[in-house]
Amino acid sequence: MTHSVTRSLAIFVLSFAVCGLAKAAAAADCPGNPDAIGTSRTIVVDPTEHTRVGAMSYAETLPLADKEMVLTLDDGPIAPYTDRILDILASECVHATYFIVGDMARHRPDLVQRAYREGHTIGTHSMSHPYRFRALSYERAKAQIDDGIEATTAALGDAKDLAPFFRFPGFGNTESSEEYLASRNIMVWGADIPADDWTHIGPREIVRRALTRLEQKGKGILLLHDIHPATVAALPMLLKELKERGYHIVHVVPASKENPKTETTPEAWLVPDRRRYAATQELALSEVQSLNTDFLSRHSPEDLCSLKAMTGRSWSLAARHSPRHSSVSRHSSMSRNSSMSRMARARAGHADRGDRWWW
Ligand SMILES: [Zn+2]
Repeated sequence: MTHSVTRSLAIFVLSFAVCGLAKAAAAADCPGNPDAIGTSRTIVVDPTEHTRVGAMSYAETLPLADKEMVLTLDDGPIAPYTDRILDILASECVHATYFIVGDMARHRPDLVQRAYREGHTIGTHSMSHPYRFRALSYERAKAQIDDGIEATTAALGDAKDLAPFFRFPGFGNTESSEEYLASRNIMVWGADIPADDWTHIGPREIVRRALTRLEQKGKGILLLHDIHPATVAALPMLLKELKERGYHIVHVVPASKENPKTETTPEAWLVPDRRRYAATQELALSEVQSLNTDFLSRHSPEDLCSLKAMTGRSWSLAARHSPRHSSVSRHSSMSRNSSMSRMARARAGHADRGDRWWW
């Protein structure tokens, strides 16, 4: 055997040994669950440097390596689903990023506190999750952002526990709102991969869509919602399958004086192929909505995915196609006239029904 062959063989064997050690370390890191996927690393981001991320809306996304994903959970907290999701994440030693609705935080501050205490990042997602965020005046949009932050901060009890991360409801971003968020040094999060868990699909289908889209892109920010029973049922299957396929979960936290940002290159933040993402988005939407092709052809994939579909015309289309016409309409009027408690009650019922329009 030549020297070079011996050396290659040694490297080959050593690689397997290192893999084994890494696996052992991951298992040891999660007490009581040797099969846990765990959290492989933490990225510290400076919200003033990369202000908008997520390929479904923006040209930049998080600087992930191949086979890395960030788990995000929107619209909660709500019992019993947020509790169950937190139990699953704890048993798998996974850290996620939550985008909290202010109304929901007011009703269950204990759940927001639990998520923070267990190491998750807490961002916000408006005060009452207006369906048509883009249709709001600048002042009303600003109030939605501010009130959501205030309510979530009040639930946490300390402003420093809240990450300066915001996700628009229904991805309803506008330039003026983005500028306002930037003026407050708040980073806007879109997503890279939807799993359609707000629709009527079952847990296995949520897992299938998440994995199919993740495999297409190789990495990314996954969008889930911790207010649906199907998501609760899907999560253990999803985490098991992710581990088997060699994916790693990455936790994201904001930079601070004590915790400087992770060094990256500007290129690492660029979405590699936006057209490919756009194609997937359009597919995702057409899979879940009964809109006609004329409607689809008149909207860009980005508009469709941000649910700009919620125009008067699409609203009536949705109502006509929906067997739950009356409940959709009822909830719509509640959104417009909500008091906090009425809104949260509507959200609770809404979550149970898994309404198709909820992002
Ligand atoms: Zn949402």
